[in-house]
Amino acid sequence: MALFEKHKPTHVIHLAAMVGGLFRNLAFNLDFFRCNMKINDNVLHACFVHGVKKCVSCLSTCAFPDKITYPINELNLHDGPPHDSNFGFAYAKRMLDVMNRGYNSQHNCTFTSVIPTNVFGPHDNFNLQDGHALPGLVHKGYLAKKENKPFVIWGTGSPRRQFIYSLDLARVIIWVLREYDDVSPMIASVGEEDEVSIKEAAEMVVRAHGFKGKIVYDTSKSDGQFKKTASNAKLRKYLPDFKFTPTEKAIQETVDWFIKNYETARK
Ligand code: GDP
Repeated sequence: MALFEKHKPTHVIHLAAMVGGLFRNLAFNLDFFRCNMKINDNVLHACFVHGVKKCVSCLSTCAFPDKITYPINELNLHDGPPHDSNFGFAYAKRMLDVMNRGYNSQHNCTFTSVIPTNVFGPHDNFNLQDGHALPGLVHKGYLAKKENKPFVIWGTGSPRRQFIYSLDLARVIIWVLREYDDVSPMIASVGEEDEVSIKEAAEMVVRAHGFKGKIVYDTSKSDGQFKKTASNAKLRKYLPDFKFTPTEKAIQETVDWFIKNYETARK
């Protein structure tokens, strides 16, 4: 509230959240739920009290139901329970959509949301335990090369993900903030054809590092959700010419950034 009083924003991009990769979610489902509910209630209410014209919040495709027909679209958000591994985070994120609808129907606010798939890029959290797959793999590849040790991929490598580069997501969010006046969410994702397996993503990381050593799979670690393939048809309807950075290039840029900023990177 103090921040809103100080800056009096007219437009807000709400990205604050307690986040983590699969393994942090598995350990702290209750904390993820409580913490994110509080953050979201606080931010949206502050937007309302201060008459913010537009607020864009971030959900996540892991908020979608686990048992669903693919590709997932925006209308499926509340169609069934989310995957067990991250139910706390998923339900808290769904409630953002409920609040957006409530603020609109009761107070006529334009609060909306984007639903990104797996985000990665410079300035990510590269922590090996708590982070998401891509930054975790970038960090592991760095250490494997430096210490001449095997590169360990958790799980079987077969789960599939649509990775979106943080700079591309930023462009989508700014467009939504400027041009999209609907309350219903918008999936921000590369196409279904650009979904890759964890193994393929890890191979891109290996190439980006120029790592030539051994690659092993630690199948004692969970695979999590097998896939959550999302449709970007709605986004494409509004932005047919939007160009996503090719995943291999985005991974190379992320690896280069991580190596250059190793000392100060979040890890
Ligand atoms: P999710 O997309 O919400 O499930 O979260 P993540 O970004 O953490 O991706 C988890 C998937 O990547 C699972 O299939 C993991 O087994 C696999 N994975 C492989 N290596 C790693 C790693 O170093 N860190 C993480 N977080 N996941 C990994």
